Amino acid sequence: MIIENHPFQVNQKGHLEIGGLDTTLLAEKYGTPLYVYDVSIIRENARAFTGTFKDLGVKGRVAYASKAFSSIAMLQVMKQEGLCLDVVSEGELFTALKSGFPEERIHMHGNNKSYHEIFMAIEHNIGCIVIDNFYEIELISAILEKQQKEIDVLMRVTPGIESKTHQYIMTGNEDSKFGFNLQNGQAEKAFNILHNHKSIRFKGLHCHIGSQIFETDRFELATDVLFKELSEWRKKYDYTPDVLNLGGGFGIRYTKEDEPIPYQNYVEALVQTVEEHVSEQGISMPEIWIEPGRSIVGNSGITLYTIGAMKEIPGIRTYISVDGGMTDNLRPALYGAKYEAVIANKAVDPVTEKVSVAGKCCESGDMLIWDLPVPNVENSDILAVFSTGAYGYSMANHYNRFPKAAVVFVENGSDKLVVQRESYQDMVKNDLSYE
Ligand SMILES: *Cc1c(COP(=O)(O)O)cnc(C)c1O
Repeated sequence: MIIENHPFQVNQKGHLEIGGLDTTLLAEKYGTPLYVYDVSIIRENARAFTGTFKDLGVKGRVAYASKAFSSIAMLQVMKQEGLCLDVVSEGELFTALKSGFPEERIHMHGNNKSYHEIFMAIEHNIGCIVIDNFYEIELISAILEKQQKEIDVLMRVTPGIESKTHQYIMTGNEDSKFGFNLQNGQAEKAFNILHNHKSIRFKGLHCHIGSQIFETDRFELATDVLFKELSEWRKKYDYTPDVLNLGGGFGIRYTKEDEPIPYQNYVEALVQTVEEHVSEQGISMPEIWIEPGRSIVGNSGITLYTIGAMKEIPGIRTYISVDGGMTDNLRPALYGAKYEAVIANKAVDPVTEKVSVAGKCCESGDMLIWDLPVPNVENSDILAVFSTGAYGYSMANHYNRFPKAAVVFVENGSDKLVVQRESYQDMVKNDLSYE
């Protein structure tokens, strides 16, 4: 049987499966809380993007935004699939280098890159730095001079597009901490510095308009804004870009309310919009780069928990508590994110009640799911929360000194531990005595 809305099945025992394996056996083998990824879904998601560029015969790059989930094993899968990689910090860059990721396929982002971060990026000859602000241009210039090097860069701009309850409006003054403003002339000023720079190779523009976006029209609007500016620069400076990076933010399904569209549609819409502008302006086709994060890993991962204490408040609600919470999945507490889940060992049992799933941290806000329909729940049942593959492990924290959970990859019917569960010794390893 197939689970509704999520790419998983139930076996003959009525247990939830992932990648052909019984989730209750995985929970028993590795303990809980446990992040489990079906690697075949990660690969399928990646290929939906890369395959569409190939099918359309358009030069493009798909850079996985590693902030969604960065670990050595994950980055190795991205390497195998031929993707590029976005990093936004020295830690993410370090992980990428440790994973053996090809340096020339790494791109660096960030609105406050430090001297040291940029130094490391240039030292390792990464493929591209996406410049965010004027201060960064100074830092990069100084480091290039010091290392006697050159580097490819893109310039991040804010196209001034916001969504307002399903209706999209263009805003005159953009209020964002990221990138150069197109409307007030900052972007053009930066362009002039970069375009004439002796050791910076200016390749083109970048924009990222947001996250969990389900329609293609916002990307088309952003592309329109970029081409409007580019048309000015072509007239004034005879400039045409080699690359347009249109960011990430493609939506996935967390709950039945989310209605994701096939990933191919985004790529096709972007390519078509760029092609229209290119032919209108009579310039050559730039490479199109995109940066999916959530859409590569989000739906491939689940989190397994063991249910412990239960508390029924008659006439109000029943709380069931699990052995994790905002330490392994911060999103509900951080921005009210919604999830769906099943009792993994009773995945086809008829629903009899609604319960609310609490984490075990000392915060009333540590609630994972409100009003989850479940069959008869008992202590020691295993709860499986869906779509936790992105921004779960990567936002995990040590609140209440809970060690970070382990990560297991399953593929072709076998399971492999790819991130060990933290020990209490790990937790105190940087603590120093004061007596
Ligand atoms: C976060 C981010 C992404 C990825 O966003 P998703 O919603 O995970 O696809 C891509 N590009 C930039 C610049 C980002 O900040």
